Amino acid sequence: MGTTRPAHWPMDQFPTIDDCLRVGGIPLTQLAARVGQTPFYAYDRRLLDRKVALLRGELPTAIKLHYAIKANPMPALVRHMAGLVDGLDVASLGELRVALDAGMSPAEISFAGPGKRPPELAAAIAAGITINLESVRELETAARLGREQGQRPRTAVRVNPDFELKASGMKMGGGPKPFGVDAEQVPALLRRIGELELDFEGFHIFTGSQNLRAEAIVEAHDRTFELALRLAADAPGPVRLLNIGGGFGIPYFPGDQPLDLTPIAVNLERWLPVVEARLPQAQVVLELGRYLVGEAGLYVAEVVDRKVSRGHTFLITNGGLHHHLAASGNFGQVLRKNYPVVVGNRVVGTEREVVTVVGPLCTPLDILADRMELAKADVGDLIVVFQSGAYGLTASPTAFLGHPPCVEVLV
Ligand SMILES: *Cc1c(COP(=O)(O)O)cnc(C)c1O
Repeated sequence: MGTTRPAHWPMDQFPTIDDCLRVGGIPLTQLAARVGQTPFYAYDRRLLDRKVALLRGELPTAIKLHYAIKANPMPALVRHMAGLVDGLDVASLGELRVALDAGMSPAEISFAGPGKRPPELAAAIAAGITINLESVRELETAARLGREQGQRPRTAVRVNPDFELKASGMKMGGGPKPFGVDAEQVPALLRRIGELELDFEGFHIFTGSQNLRAEAIVEAHDRTFELALRLAADAPGPVRLLNIGGGFGIPYFPGDQPLDLTPIAVNLERWLPVVEARLPQAQVVLELGRYLVGEAGLYVAEVVDRKVSRGHTFLITNGGLHHHLAASGNFGQVLRKNYPVVVGNRVVGTEREVVTVVGPLCTPLDILADRMELAKADVGDLIVVFQSGAYGLTASPTAFLGHPPCVEVLV
């Protein structure tokens, strides 16, 4: 290896030996042969272990960790995560089945998402998981289905807070939102839960996603605890669950710094005795998706053509936005920026050049790397997109243009 740092540095969670990336200790070329096709996603279970251990080491031990499986619902990965975290959060009946298959105890599964339909609510009640209620209609439907089944639904209230998570990639609370029940309408909903004699677990307050600013998260946590303590005055029973959301981000782009957990941990340490005194039965839960799995995954596509158009070099691969919409810049980005990309089997290379890496789709949106400096690559080389463990395959339009499907492996 030369002294030149690969362009993705410091994203060095996957080691490079003899200029070839390793995933779970296996050289990428060998892994590609083992998978039997390109493109594929690979997730490294040791990196999943490491991330959860890092969080547990930094955060107060009383904080429970939940994995929000919409970030990556691959069944083998969810099963692995189920052994590491304290609970799973699902957002559909399909995800609920994956969570139950993974062996997580129903008492530690919660179900959020607007517009839960009667079959979803009925399944949640039958499974005995916690339903995060997002409207009066959901509450009334759950109560009716519970009576029909002869089961008491376990419920929590998802609150649309009266504040926002600042500097967040995606805001999911504050102002008018389809998510949750507006904080000012929560007392009436709590009274109704009491009248209908449903099991009341507590509150779910989720404010946003992909935040790299610790001080913004600290401020959101302050507002969240204050709001929960206020709402608890109208609760029909003791608060047993206080889900304070997540929103922890990961670095994707040049200049992004990893989230500093220390101020978040210090602030939680400060709040826990207050919660303990006012809501003695409450378990405080952080629910995280991207932060737990995003950095553990790679997307790998193969160069199938190389062409020069009016002085500009294009590498055309067999993978693209149909498998990885986020890397193409079309999932939540306003201005397109390159994800970290390398040529996985020649990370530094001997010669380097500026190229644009595209997929095979007949649309100018199908870009994996735009004018990026990479090792000089040719047909058969493997293009790797880092930070691909979350919102990858299942967040992509896989049917678009009818190309062959992608596979996923847990290594
Ligand atoms: C999407 C979502 C998450 C996960 O968000 P990340 O940014 O991936 O951590 C957690 N909870 C709820 C309710 C969600 O909708």
